[in-house]
Amino acid sequence: MTLFDGKVAIVTGGGSGIGEAACHLYAREGAKVVVSDLNEKRGNEVTQAIQKLKGDAIFVRADVSNPDDCQAMVDATLEKYGRLDIAFNNAGIGGETNLTADYSIAGWQKVIAVNLSSVFYCMKYEIPAMLKTGGGAIVNMASILGQVGFENSPAYVAAKHGVVGLTRTAALEYSKQGIQINSVGPGFIRTPLISGLEQDEQVRNHLISLHPLGRLGESEEVAELVIWLSSEKASFVMGAYYPIDGGYLAR
Ligand code: NAP
Repeated sequence: MTLFDGKVAIVTGGGSGIGEAACHLYAREGAKVVVSDLNEKRGNEVTQAIQKLKGDAIFVRADVSNPDDCQAMVDATLEKYGRLDIAFNNAGIGGETNLTADYSIAGWQKVIAVNLSSVFYCMKYEIPAMLKTGGGAIVNMASILGQVGFENSPAYVAAKHGVVGLTRTAALEYSKQGIQINSVGPGFIRTPLISGLEQDEQVRNHLISLHPLGRLGESEEVAELVIWLSSEKASFVMGAYYPIDGGYLAR
């Protein structure tokens, strides 16, 4: 018996990094997985990899900064599988890096759209779908930067703080109707999102030094927490923010 037999899970940004790792773990635990991503090539590759392992998955292209795409993603899920039980609203970008006064308006709007408005758009369509079958679980992707500031990333930090607050509010609204809604806050995780930073050894060592555990995290480590928060094992957890950060916030 696996954790998610008969259940259906959407993962946004499922084509890479933490989302990709989560798609594989949901599938391993018996869920039918809707791999959603803007990147069609990577999304299809992850879907095919799950199918090769005899898992059940489809790819649905969606730009999460577009509300119509988010609605179409949920519609496609219901059309294919007839229900929605789990959503990991994970897609995000690093975006422009600049001091606040130098940050471009377009850069700000892009990061807020992809990293924050997207979570609202996704939940707006996921919640009614889940209520139809008595509830479900939503995990929203925040960051350690949903709790503390970080120079040169005002939009990213604001967006991730926003995800934490939005998660708390939606949890207060829907938990009694059977939807457990929480957020996760990874430290720096070795994915394509930060591969540019990692190439510079000095920057890499600085990033490592911010984590008392003495290393960066791996996607699979974050995915394990996401899976737990998506399961009935986390039935008394609601509106919470779970750091998974090698001690970044412990100092
Ligand atoms: P990643 O490897 O770059 O994966 C993100 C995926 O989302 C990519 O496939 C990307 O496509 C896709 N994507 C980008 N914009 C999108 C959009 N508008 N609509 C739909 N999909 C879109 O990044 P990751 O590190 O796994 O990050 C996943 C989430 O974790 C993000 O929300 C990020 O902020 C958060 N996070 C990451 C870290 C870290 O250190 N890695 C730490 C804390 C939080 P493309 O490849 O085409 O861009």
